[in-house]
Amino acid sequence: MCDSSELLQGLKEKLCCCIDESKEKLRMLSQDIWSSPELAYEEHKAHDRLVEFFSQETGWKVDSHYKLQTAFRATWGPPESSEQGHVVNVGFLCEYDALPGIGHACGHNLIAEVGAAAAVGLKDVLEKTQNLPVKVQVTVLGTPAEEDGGGKIDLIKDGAFEGLDVVFMAHPSKEDAVYLPCVADHDVSVKYHGKASHASAYPWEGVNALDAAVLCYNNLSVLRQQMKPDWRVHGIIKHGGVKPNIIPDYTELEYYLRTPSRAELPVLKEKAVRCFRSAAEATGCQVEVEFARNQFDNMLRFPTLEELYERNGKDLGMDFTTDEAVLKESGSTDFGNVTFVVPGIHTYFYIGSQAFNHTEEYTVAAGDNKAQFFTLRTAKALAMTALDVLLRPELLQRVKQEFTEAKLKDEGTLRGQSTGQTEKQS
Ligand SMILES: [Zn+2]
Ligand SMILES: [Zn+2]
Repeated sequence: MCDSSELLQGLKEKLCCCIDESKEKLRMLSQDIWSSPELAYEEHKAHDRLVEFFSQETGWKVDSHYKLQTAFRATWGPPESSEQGHVVNVGFLCEYDALPGIGHACGHNLIAEVGAAAAVGLKDVLEKTQNLPVKVQVTVLGTPAEEDGGGKIDLIKDGAFEGLDVVFMAHPSKEDAVYLPCVADHDVSVKYHGKASHASAYPWEGVNALDAAVLCYNNLSVLRQQMKPDWRVHGIIKHGGVKPNIIPDYTELEYYLRTPSRAELPVLKEKAVRCFRSAAEATGCQVEVEFARNQFDNMLRFPTLEELYERNGKDLGMDFTTDEAVLKESGSTDFGNVTFVVPGIHTYFYIGSQAFNHTEEYTVAAGDNKAQFFTLRTAKALAMTALDVLLRPELLQRVKQEFTEAKLKDEGTLRGQSTGQTEKQS
């Protein structure tokens, strides 16, 4: 009998060959998505193209419009009702939404390609392998609307992640990184309603909604001294009145409120809402505070998956960043919410350009053939990591243990810290 580490190594090599064999159709898939950029929840062409891709591959069951109009699911493996014992369900996620005006400036066409490549490569190698120690299902979820709204959060609420044991995805960046911090975020819209009046003739008849907006902005600016260093509050005045000689009767602000852990977010939200409301009180305006439908959670970490991915990536020649400044850059993603329902990793990959995401230069880089080598290398590293946890069940057990611990640790973030409640009593 073949030694298990030799078996694993052999399968990893075969897997890389399988991905390389599909490289032309994968490049075309990515290119088609890149050349027809679509905004969040409107990714109809990308959805159709991915559904077509998996429908043309043998052995996949494809559910188009899966729970959301532009989401899909492709599955390979034993049927759900199979009596073959426990089946390990491995997920790969594809994003494919673009940004207004600048197309695929976040390179989500490459995320779709990585997900498709890794899933197809893993399936091909598993299919050709006799006597696997586990039964495997490979699931690809097409998750729309990462840039706006949070499609994965909608899908979680609708049960799309149930039954998955571990999930993988990778995001284009300007460097290879196993992990970059992703914080919790809730967006809020604040609207003030006042009363218009002639600003020179009889201003005393008016109720100035712009004054409320300015006070709101200043209240939050004053609050910053009492915020923790890693909290972030950033906003704009979206609507500030129409003409200087009319007392503004309507203004609107939009804020993003972020904390490193979702457990801390209610504390910041409560403080912010007090700022919004007190500005209304001071000016006599009415205020509407409307939080976005979906709250983005911070991303939990699973060291076992990270270590395996790093080892596989290095074997393929990846050079992971050690730049401390880069490793502190933080944003938010709906993959954070995924890590609270199933363990997984969301790695970052270099695409052959030093451009920053969300710039026109990055759009060009994401459509450039030069990105293909790096994209497929990332898909290989993800699929190799999937093989590691599939063929060594003790690793998957460890990941599941880390999942339980990470959630508990995150819930405990607030322990021993002020929740803002004492201020209410003083
Ligand atoms: Zn983005
Ligand atoms: Zn992105």
